[in-house]
Amino acid sequence: MKEQINLLVKLQQKDRVLDRFRRQIREGPERLQDLEKELEGVEEDVEADKRRIQELKKTQRDYEAEIEDGLAHIRKSRGRLMGIKNNKEYLALLREIEEAEKGNADKEDRILSCLEELEKLNKELEAKEKGLSAMRDRLESEKTAIAKEIARVQEELSDTEKSREKLVETITPELLSKYEQIKARSGGIAMALVNNATCSECHLGIPPQMYNELQRQDSLKFCPNCQRIIYWKEAETSA
Ligand SMILES: [Zn+2]
Repeated sequence: MKEQINLLVKLQQKDRVLDRFRRQIREGPERLQDLEKELEGVEEDVEADKRRIQELKKTQRDYEAEIEDGLAHIRKSRGRLMGIKNNKEYLALLREIEEAEKGNADKEDRILSCLEELEKLNKELEAKEKGLSAMRDRLESEKTAIAKEIARVQEELSDTEKSREKLVETITPELLSKYEQIKARSGGIAMALVNNATCSECHLGIPPQMYNELQRQDSLKFCPNCQRIIYWKEAETSA
């Protein structure tokens, strides 16, 4: 039994390593996905800035056209001013010209604020595009690095799987199925080292009687709390 328990401990060690490899293989693409998401966020931000810039440019052109129309109107009104004899009509037209000039001045102010916002946005956009290109470079090198890492881990994983198969052949089927059962319901860990009469997995104490029996290593013992197969420290050092 002592030898079989040692084999189970070895099996548990291999399974831990396998779990780690599988996690590494899973986490690589997840890391890439996070980076891609981040990149998409910045891309969307850049697109929004570009749209706003187009909007502002259109607003600017519209105001410029309106100012042109206003100027043409003012010129025409000024021409008409000469021919008016009636004082009241004259003043009314004069006021109309003033209003048109005020309207144009107001539009010029608005064009100025468009230009200010455009300048600010263009500066921001330039910085964001620089950041974006750095992010794209980073993503590319991460992709290469992760693909390499996954290939390496995959290789180690299949080596470990092969040596696990060999190890499994040396364990009795009953014991193996017990191990797999406990592993499946205990978060992948079926074996629990007992250290100072305490289960290292659930951290609860092992009754003294059981602890004494455990040290004899002549029968299978289970943690009374987490139900894992418990083993004594010496089993691990000799494993
Ligand atoms: Zn336990």
